[in-house]
Amino acid sequence: MIFIALGSNVGDRLAYLRQAIAAMGAFFTIKKSSPVFETEALLPEGSPPAWNRPHCNMVIAGESALSPEALLQRLQEVEHRLGRPPDHLFHAPRTIDLDIVLYHNQKVQTERLTIPHKGLEDRLFLRALLAFLGKTPYPPEESYIPLRSFVLEPKLVGIVNATPDSFSDGGRHLNPDDAVRHMKALEAAGAAVVELGAQSTRPGYTEVSPQVEIERLAPIVERYQGTACLGVDTYFDEVVEYALQHSFLWMNDVKGQLCETTIKKIADCGAQLVTMLCGTDYSWFEERVKTLVHLGMRKENILLDPGVGFGKTRSENLDAIRLCPKLRDYGCPILLGPSRKSCLSSFSPVAAAERDIETLGICASAEADYLRVHAVEDHMRFFVAQQSVLPLLDTEDSRNSHKACPRRACTS
Ligand code: ATP
Ligand code: CA
Ligand code: CA
Repeated sequence: MIFIALGSNVGDRLAYLRQAIAAMGAFFTIKKSSPVFETEALLPEGSPPAWNRPHCNMVIAGESALSPEALLQRLQEVEHRLGRPPDHLFHAPRTIDLDIVLYHNQKVQTERLTIPHKGLEDRLFLRALLAFLGKTPYPPEESYIPLRSFVLEPKLVGIVNATPDSFSDGGRHLNPDDAVRHMKALEAAGAAVVELGAQSTRPGYTEVSPQVEIERLAPIVERYQGTACLGVDTYFDEVVEYALQHSFLWMNDVKGQLCETTIKKIADCGAQLVTMLCGTDYSWFEERVKTLVHLGMRKENILLDPGVGFGKTRSENLDAIRLCPKLRDYGCPILLGPSRKSCLSSFSPVAAAERDIETLGICASAEADYLRVHAVEDHMRFFVAQQSVLPLLDTEDSRNSHKACPRRACTS
């Protein structure tokens, strides 16, 4: 087994980690990945204060046919492709850093390469991350506690409602400063997308015009200076146009009535489009995907949302969640948005704002690539803990030190 450490402390750090893993797929077969630990920067004395930015670190285990030297070469190519300059200063902030930690049981000591990586001596976070992969020859790891931790999958879409009347948080983020504060919190919690909505589409809502939506969005967009991928929840062409002009890369359309020109613009910008089913005629997705692809959308940028809470009875809403795996046949990623919705009151009569536990229960069982939720931080903490007890790798270490115990089957 080969163990590679990934780190990022610039921009949308989790997005860089995902991109690096995707690029490495060309020469490295991943068997298992650790959670992501946010850690303080380790800087030599006298470093510029601007370099003191926390890192997101993780380790992946896998196999490759490449020699250590050839593997390093390919990893450095990925670093450059993701924006790390070749003349990068030692310890300066970086979009991505890829290090070979262990290469089977080989020791390498050349001018370009030291394996095992020298960081194993004193970087407790690195040992702790390896332990998540069942690799524990470098104790102690117990003493390390990260600033935060994250999973890369499922991806969480954080909801910000800049509305007076949304069903669970209406009025809380109508003030632009409150909205921006919330966006920063979602970003820090690891949201893959921060989605702004300027119109409530709760059952029985009264429609506001696209101009009102834009008036609500504009002061927020002007104030927000962050790194998250921005999204908008709208069904108006004018609002999509505004969002694309402001570098939004995620459009959540609950009506499926955007005009062809708008969809072509979304495709040209390489933005993602959530397309939602109202009702229960699932075959609708087939035609819808065809139309969107015809207009230039790549399938990977079309997200299918079975539409929990839209035109469905309570049991149909639960069916929609069960049906997620079937939707994969259309070849697009799946998004599920059950957060705090009224079908969750099938279980207990709690108020909408109090339904995060039920939301979590649904999200934990659902098979979706994206989960659109209010409580991003809680979901992230939950998934890190849940995934930390998935089966370990069958390495020499784990074979000797862990006796298999019967438990619910789960895959990594
Ligand atoms: P550190 O190595 O302390 O984690 P760093 O990763 O920031 O710091 P870089 O500037 O990315 O350092 O790398 C400097 C050089 O380290 C690379 O050009 C590479 O030749 C060398 N190197 C030595 N051993 C390894 C290894 N196991 N994996 C990756 N690079 C290595
Ligand atoms: Ca490094
Ligand atoms: Ca490095």
